[in-house]
Amino acid sequence: MSKILIIGCGGVASVAIQKCAKKADVFSEICIASRTVSKCDALKEKLEGTTDAKITTAKVNADDVNDLISLIKKEQPKAVLNLALPYQDLTIMDACLVCGVDYIDTANYEAEDTEDPEWRAVYERRCAEKGFTAYFDYSWQWAYKERFEKAGITALLGSGFDPGVTSVFSAYALKHYFDEIHYIDIMDCNGGDHGYPFATNFNPEINLREVSANGSYWEDGHWVETKPMEIKREYDFAQVGKKDMYLLHHEEIESLAQNIPGIRRIRFFMTFGQSYLTHMKCLENVGMLRTDPVMFEGREIVPIQFLKALLPDPASLGPRTVGKTNIGCIFTGVKDGKEKSVYIYNVCDHQECYRELGSQAISYTTGVPAMIGAMLVMNGTWKKPGVFNVEEFDPDPFMEALNQYGLPWVVEENPVLVD
Ligand code: NDP
Repeated sequence: MSKILIIGCGGVASVAIQKCAKKADVFSEICIASRTVSKCDALKEKLEGTTDAKITTAKVNADDVNDLISLIKKEQPKAVLNLALPYQDLTIMDACLVCGVDYIDTANYEAEDTEDPEWRAVYERRCAEKGFTAYFDYSWQWAYKERFEKAGITALLGSGFDPGVTSVFSAYALKHYFDEIHYIDIMDCNGGDHGYPFATNFNPEINLREVSANGSYWEDGHWVETKPMEIKREYDFAQVGKKDMYLLHHEEIESLAQNIPGIRRIRFFMTFGQSYLTHMKCLENVGMLRTDPVMFEGREIVPIQFLKALLPDPASLGPRTVGKTNIGCIFTGVKDGKEKSVYIYNVCDHQECYRELGSQAISYTTGVPAMIGAMLVMNGTWKKPGVFNVEEFDPDPFMEALNQYGLPWVVEENPVLVD
């Protein structure tokens, strides 16, 4: 019998939990925990009578290591799936270490208060050493490697779609199609329309911080940084059509640069419509994307958190969103001395996701691989002591599971390349 503790019950967690509940042979017990236990209870109620898995709920503040340790000791799960926010990665990893329990997440650590002087000093040093200014990077979590090895437990980092599936696509391409990969272009296209003038498809705070930051890419062994949205390309995506896409910094570039031998360049592009970009620029210009507290009528508020309260809840976009996502990677490299290119991608339909689980495709494409990563760790297929990114394991079982659990993929040889 295997119990999983899932922290968070937002858009992504809701998908992962529903998918885990359909795999009661692996996840015989599921404990759902967050600060607002009523939301966890609502999900439990929705699942009642539809699954053989035993579902329980609990209240936890994942910013507090002791609170997490008490919960893990009480629940005795085999693994903890962190689907809260990147701010809680380290506290949850600390608690897993104390309790000797495996850890899985979908996003790398990011500090909540980027004005904190202690964090800022480390950040400034990293910007100077590495050459990119994103607020998130893997150094914080990779620093746990030895401690996880000694404790004999696994941390699986970045088991969402990007990072996650895109990283597994890379390992799969290397294993089956190339002797050496030289170029990777990761392309995240959302052709969905939710009908609102402005909304984000996942947590607005995390999303807007990512998109308004400088872009960057990896080339010839170092980072090249760009201004936000400085590099724009157009691509004709299968089942979506032509879209403008912009180069962003993205976390899987950092781990793939280490784990794909011989790599020369890795870029990440995401599609945005002009209206989204204009709204975001305006919000940024008036200070609404600030992450530091400001005084308002005698109390402190953090502008981006206030903005989050005004924007539509991403979990509510499901019924309104129509269209498809197309996310994948174009690889160029050599096989048997010949240069070749291969494109591996998944197309996901917002309305089909809604019909199946009541959520839109962004939560779906993240929640399904989170369940798959947790399943592979829990059933021992991807279990070894230490801290790993998903591309460090054999990609085949993950790729098979994608086809089986709702994210089938396509391999296209000789695709149109991005210049
Ligand atoms: P939501 O904001 O919808 O959900 C976040 C959840 O975390 C809520 O249920 C919230 O519950 C819980 N939470 C927040 N703070 C705490 C805390 N201190 N203690 C306990 N629980 C907490 O986010 P999403 O579902 O959209 O995203 C979840 C994660 O997935 C994020 O880390 C995001 O970066 C990542 N992601 C990864 C992607 C990928 O492809 N790799 C793509 C999209 C998202 P409550 O308020 O009740 O505590």
